[in-house]
Amino acid sequence: SQLDTLDLVVLVFVFVGTVAYFTKGSLWAKAKDPVADLNYARLNGANKAGKTRNIVQKLEESDKNFIIFYGSQTGSAEDYASRLAKEGHARFGLRTMVADLEEYDYENLDTFPSDKVVVFVLATYGEGEPTDNAVEFYEFITNEDVSFSEGGTTDSAPLSNLRYIAFGLGNNTYEHYNSVVRHVNEALQKLGAKRIGTAGEGDDGAGTMEEDFLAWKEPMWLALAEEMGLEEREAVYEPAFSVTERNDLDIEHNTVYLGEPNKNHLEGTSRGPYNAHNPFIAPIKSSRELFSVRDRNCLHMDIDLTGSNVTYTTGDHVAIWPTNAGVEVERFLRVFGLFEKRHTVIDVKGLDTTSKVPFPTPTTYDTVARYQLEICAPVSRQFVASLSAFAPSEEAKAEMNTLGGDKDQFQDRIASRYLNIAQVLGMVAPAQVWSAVPFSLLIEGVNKIQPRYYSISSSSHVDKNTVSVTAIVESIRIPGAEHVLKGVTTNYLLALKQKQHGDPNPDPHGLSYQITGPRNKYDGIHVPVHVRHSNFKLPSDPSKPIIMVGPGTGVAPFRAFVQERAAHAAKGEKVGRTLLFFGCRKHNEDFLYKDEWKQYGEAMGDTFSLITAFSREGPNKVYVQHRLEEHAEEINHLLQQGAYFYVCGDAANMAREVNIILGKIIAKERGLMVAQGEEIVKRMRNSNLYQEDVW
Ligand code: FAD
Repeated sequence: SQLDTLDLVVLVFVFVGTVAYFTKGSLWAKAKDPVADLNYARLNGANKAGKTRNIVQKLEESDKNFIIFYGSQTGSAEDYASRLAKEGHARFGLRTMVADLEEYDYENLDTFPSDKVVVFVLATYGEGEPTDNAVEFYEFITNEDVSFSEGGTTDSAPLSNLRYIAFGLGNNTYEHYNSVVRHVNEALQKLGAKRIGTAGEGDDGAGTMEEDFLAWKEPMWLALAEEMGLEEREAVYEPAFSVTERNDLDIEHNTVYLGEPNKNHLEGTSRGPYNAHNPFIAPIKSSRELFSVRDRNCLHMDIDLTGSNVTYTTGDHVAIWPTNAGVEVERFLRVFGLFEKRHTVIDVKGLDTTSKVPFPTPTTYDTVARYQLEICAPVSRQFVASLSAFAPSEEAKAEMNTLGGDKDQFQDRIASRYLNIAQVLGMVAPAQVWSAVPFSLLIEGVNKIQPRYYSISSSSHVDKNTVSVTAIVESIRIPGAEHVLKGVTTNYLLALKQKQHGDPNPDPHGLSYQITGPRNKYDGIHVPVHVRHSNFKLPSDPSKPIIMVGPGTGVAPFRAFVQERAAHAAKGEKVGRTLLFFGCRKHNEDFLYKDEWKQYGEAMGDTFSLITAFSREGPNKVYVQHRLEEHAEEINHLLQQGAYFYVCGDAANMAREVNIILGKIIAKERGLMVAQGEEIVKRMRNSNLYQEDVW
């Protein structure tokens, strides 16, 4: 179609020329007076580290005119933000910069110059919440009584100078679809700011995030060009990072990062606080298999926090920092012609003060592929197009342009087959090496590896130093593809478990992990972790009744909940009715913690009931949703006594259906209209009586 051809042209342009959003800033830059700059910085209260939280000042100092803020939890919003930065510079010569929302203040947005543009790329997380790094901004801007330092240009429209662009990342299976970008957009409109283009929305639930983004950004760029009087230029690739091979250093040298997450870890002086930037290298106390079938695995792991000062409360999440499998690291390095020199030491530097290298250096190619980049993840169509300029042959180049430019071909041949980037290139040009691809482009185009979250399945009340993980090992056979997709983190955990059990060849399916970590620092079965606090919480009063719905690994936090209540009961405290709905395929295959429930039941007596649904045992499939209906009367009765209702697990289908069924149960039992039942569930949500922990 016409659009696709246009898209193709655009994509080629953009990425032939991507990135230099940094260096060439000087082309448009004014000559600077260092003394004036210094005074300016002082006057504006730059902090000691020389970092300012004043965004207007930052833009002045770094001479940028297009700032892209991201609110990101898993890295996707950050990735889209940096793609917009590259494209804005490559196509329109914008002096772009990407920034973490958390790193700036917003009281002076009313002084934002009208010849600059701000972009918000905002993910919605959980139940309509902003991501951790966006909380402060979100609360500030959506506050009814928001006020700005300068008092604004006019009282009714304090942000009338502010021009902005907005794109949201959401998931339509959640009730509050893209609510963060919607609320921010609304708030900015109310404050008189001027939006350029539409407020875009990407839908992860429908699996169309990438295409939603691509379709949104074209008209947005045109509107921006029109509004700001920009002219599109022919784009050329300019790297964001310089990559220098250091022949004077080798991997034995103690300054070279081989996977250590930061300087303290490198120097062996790792210390807290442990958080999303600084993991604790935790010993795995014990691990075991929970399934009794051969072809599927579900792991239970007890992770030791002793001595770390890391605290958690029941219902929190633990984040596991993964390592890529050796086979994938090798595939990646080989396809780019880096395998032979994988242990060469490299320095990576941002070519501009605002470009951050996403990992510590000096390091090696092997380390970057193994510990730093999400090399197994789905590939973006835009990135495929960007690589075409560096293809090893004319045929490969044409093929990359086709795949990058044609939505349907991309879907059929790449997305639906779950290929990662090295597999794509191997398919396009079998046995050829893509050695012309600048390493900088890989750092820019492949996401930074992300820790994966797990709902902690132990109770902090019972053992504050142990967090348990209940994880199903991802292993997906894709119809029509030759390979089996192996989840990055869960297969790494499986290898750790096998090593702990003395398996001489611990690697599942020959995945060959570097299981002892950088410089063997993770030996003795350690895994890097941090804890993320959540709002998924038991009532503080144990005598309140609770109803929990957690099929499959959705039962993880409920093991913790029940464990905690059993401990209260064992001490003779009064514990309220505790109802757990659990579902799986067969009672003798994947019934998680089958034997433990009996022990908890002994401590709690009649207050605890486990209601099971086995989907593959009878003639009809039975799910937890059916069981809820069967127990409608008691559920309603408990709710009327102020019971808390919890749902954990699959967001796409189960959680949504449970929500609907609960509305129906309430309506039926109380003789109300279905809409009234739904309204009651909504109110329960608002008052935290209905809580979800879904993914
Ligand atoms: P990944 O490598 O991240 O792959 C995950 C999926 O991404 C694959 O199954 C596939 O669908 C897709 N994918 C990956 N690569 C490609 C590709 N190249 N092309 C196309 N698609 C691809 N899980 C649990 O088991 N237990 C829990 O208690 C639990 N709690 C959670 C709590 C929260 C708050 C969240 C957000 C998630 C939770 N999860 C839990 C899920 C968990 O975080 C991980 O997502 C899951 O274990 C898979 O991780 P992985 O690294 O093994 O797989």
